[in-house]
This record gives sequence, structure tokens and C-alpha cells, in this order.
Amino acid sequence: MMRIGIGEDIHRIDDGRTLILGGVIIEEGPGLIGHSDADVLLHAITDAILGAAALGDIGQHFPPGDPRYAQADSADFLRAATSLALASGWAIANIDATVRAERPKLGPYIPHIRQRIAEIASLDISCVSIKAKTSEGLDAVGRGEAMAAAAAVLLQPRAG
Ligand code: MG
Repeated sequence: MMRIGIGEDIHRIDDGRTLILGGVIIEEGPGLIGHSDADVLLHAITDAILGAAALGDIGQHFPPGDPRYAQADSADFLRAATSLALASGWAIANIDATVRAERPKLGPYIPHIRQRIAEIASLDISCVSIKAKTSEGLDAVGRGEAMAAAAAVLLQPRAG
């Protein structure tokens, strides 16, 4: 038996903040606004894991109004969701995600982002797929006002 989950997120752009995407600092920015470190990609993946395990959503586990999560490292959210799924008997089979951003060009960062997510979730890098695209000048992403991410995660029964 397998379980599938999906996750989505969007954050507003703020040039004054540092961009952190998939747990990787991207110096050229632009940054994103959020209560935590605003890592839109890790938030979408975290929600997909929680969704696949039917364990609620990221806002329930890490409420944005909770001062404990101000400036939080979203790697902690992903790690926690992975542990919660494991505790419920599920291991991640694979992650596939897409980030939408007009800038920066994300292609050069993708290998590092995949590596970082694999580390955080204790997976082989071959189980982590990250894709990037623009929005062709359409919608909030296309106008350069936001970055968005969507993720799918498959869970399989944990070994042992
Ligand atoms: Mg978010």
C-alpha cells in the first residue's frame, strides 16, 4: 500500500530579505516574506508529507502566529513532518516538486537544493526531484510579486 500527498504554497517577494529555497541560501535573491524563513519550497513539501499521512497541515503543526516559529528554519518543519510520518508507519518513497519564480534563474541551484532536501529528509538524492519554471509574465508570480511551489510526495510502509 502507498499513500500520496500534495502540497502548495506561495510567498510574497521582498527584496530586502534573504532568499532561502529548499534549505539553500540563494544570495542573489529576491527574498520572501514570512513568519518563518519563508522557504516556500520546503513548506509545500512539508504539507505534501503531512497530507499523504493524513496528519493535518503545516499551519496546524507550526502555527504562523506562534512566536516559537518566528524566523524558524523550515528545515525543522520538513524534518518534523518526516518524523511524524515515520511514527505513523510511513517512509518517503519520493518527492517531486516545482517552484515557480520569475527570478532568479533557478537551474544552477537545483542540484544543491536536491542534495539539501535529501539530507534533511534522510533520502537518497535520486528520490528527490525539483523543477523550476517561470509564469510567463502571468499572475502574481509572473508579475514578480511572489514565488510559489507545488509538491507531490509518495509514502510507503516503513521498513521494520
Ligand atoms: Mg509558507
